[in-house]
Amino acid sequence: MGLFNIFESIKNFKSRLDEVDSSVYSGSQNILEVYERNAKLEAEIAQRTRELDRANKQMLTLQHIWNMMNSSEPLSSVLSAIVNSLQGELGYVYSFIIKPYIKDDDSYIQIAASSRDDFSEKFFKYFNCKLSDYKLKYPGIEELKDAVINNTIYQSDKLAELISGFIPDLDIEQLNKFFVEAKMKSYILVPLMSKQVHFGSLVVFSSRQTISSNELSFLSLFAKQIELAITIADLFQAVKEQAITDPMTGLFNRRYFEEFIKKEALRAERQNQKFTIIGLDLDHLKQINDVYGHNYGDIAIKAIAEVLKKNARSIDIAARMGGEEFNIVLPGVDTAGGLVAAERIRKAIEGVELEKIGHITASLGVATYLEHSDDLDELLELADQAMYESKRNGRNRVTIAKPAQEISWQDIAISTFIDILTKHRIPVEETTAKLLTQKLNEMNKNNEKLYQVADTLVTTYNPDHQDGAVKSKVELATLLAKRFDLPKESVDKLKIAILLYDIGNTMIPKDLFNKTEPLSDEDKNSIKQHPIIAAREILKPISNIGDIIPIIEKHHENWNGTGYPNHIAGEDIPIESQIILIVDSYFALLEKRPYRDAKSKEDALKIIMSEINSKWSSKLAGEFIAIIKNDFD
Ligand code: GH3
Ligand code: MG
Repeated sequence: MGLFNIFESIKNFKSRLDEVDSSVYSGSQNILEVYERNAKLEAEIAQRTRELDRANKQMLTLQHIWNMMNSSEPLSSVLSAIVNSLQGELGYVYSFIIKPYIKDDDSYIQIAASSRDDFSEKFFKYFNCKLSDYKLKYPGIEELKDAVINNTIYQSDKLAELISGFIPDLDIEQLNKFFVEAKMKSYILVPLMSKQVHFGSLVVFSSRQTISSNELSFLSLFAKQIELAITIADLFQAVKEQAITDPMTGLFNRRYFEEFIKKEALRAERQNQKFTIIGLDLDHLKQINDVYGHNYGDIAIKAIAEVLKKNARSIDIAARMGGEEFNIVLPGVDTAGGLVAAERIRKAIEGVELEKIGHITASLGVATYLEHSDDLDELLELADQAMYESKRNGRNRVTIAKPAQEISWQDIAISTFIDILTKHRIPVEETTAKLLTQKLNEMNKNNEKLYQVADTLVTTYNPDHQDGAVKSKVELATLLAKRFDLPKESVDKLKIAILLYDIGNTMIPKDLFNKTEPLSDEDKNSIKQHPIIAAREILKPISNIGDIIPIIEKHHENWNGTGYPNHIAGEDIPIESQIILIVDSYFALLEKRPYRDAKSKEDALKIIMSEINSKWSSKLAGEFIAIIKNDFD
């Protein structure tokens, strides 16, 4: 190899080195490029992640609202939860929903909901006032007004201008300083519509100066969700109102009334504060219906409702109990106050003049909780009884209830049950008897418990007996008794009789009760004995129920004289016994028997109808069916 070659190879080597060098150099240039590109990409990824993150949060927020809308929370708490979900993470420092309202012909705005945040506190510390303390008006910002009118979003960084528009006497300098400290840079106002009319606006305070198009679409979407929530909350409200109001008069219904007085009684006891119930019944409605037609009867009922609405304080509750019967609860009012209120209502009703019908009148009864009775059922009964007293004394008057008698029907029923159980007058198992006696001894005019004891006793010989049936029987019989204008004493006897007459059944052998084949004559005779057994053998020795025994003895006599045990007929059968027969027959039909299935309500009523003039009078059956159809469910 010559020198040339060496030179050549060195040259080659050099060029190779250069090549490598240049490649290394260019390589490092590439690395720099890659690095820069990566950094850019990373920034973009970070940006995208942030966007995704925000989108995600927006989705979660919307989902949260969706969940809220599916609840039956009141609108105000739904709105508060919604504005809360906007706060914080999405970069909104504070948000609230404002609503217009008109007072004394002036229009104002009120804050319907605001986000939970220390903003209000900060604001308070700074300015010593709360936004919600003021009668706010829309600030006179023209573009903002336009936005509200045209239902478009409005955004501005002139925060101080907005707030001093709401509250004119605040210092602008101080406001600006406050917003800097609170890291609020702009606000966005999104008008809200409900049922195609302006409902109010969502106002959000943002930590960003400007609003991006993404944010704009989010807020529009968010506003749509609020609008939906408002609609749904309105629907819930309407459904709720329907459930508690009487559609014909707009007054509360029986269900609401019953719930209300239960709560009111608890409150009364806790605070030792009385409340008064006024029972009211329209006079001679039947006559109005007969002479002018049912429509005019309805008009009379509605007229009473209007008087009650006008005369009620905001805390009073007026309810239509059914038909032409109303109750008014006056919380915190004693008998003297109740009498004044009732008299005012009576006069107002008397003063109403209706087309064709002319003047109408009503009879009222007044009873006060913790004054006349400390038992709700009894109180209602006393108010009712007083109302009937008004009827008996000539109608169009107010009567104050008489305090509950020393010995109430519950007392009599309790002591009778105890007597029966402790003296083993009926074949009830020892442990059951002991348990029931104990329950009875602890009982203090508690109707629910009394009915439970009766239910338990009946179940010992009739396994198909439905819990709660005794209570329903008593209620139904009481309603019937009212239609026959029975005095309180009779109604009380009827109640005791219902609690007791079944006792005779315990003397009938169980296997007879459960027989699946038709009963033999002998069986039938045995069953026919039960009213006599109940009355004579079990109850007679008990001294304070003497006048209940004839009622029980005759509760299987039929209107046409085909009943048992004495085959008496028509008006010879005490009305209380007639009532027991029809009530008892009806409930027996609803129960399953070993030899037949339970009847439906409709079928049971058909059977009742088919026995008019044989088992009962047509008047009794007619009233009975009317009660089942109208008042009793
Ligand atoms: P009293 O003065 O004793 O209360 O007599 P009255 O006629 O008002 O009472 P009664 O209980 O004898 O009759 C009430 C009637 O009211 C019987 C029923 O058909 C009728 N009624 C019940 N509910 C309505 C109703 O919603 N509209 C109308 N028009 N009548 C009703
Ligand atoms: Mg009436």
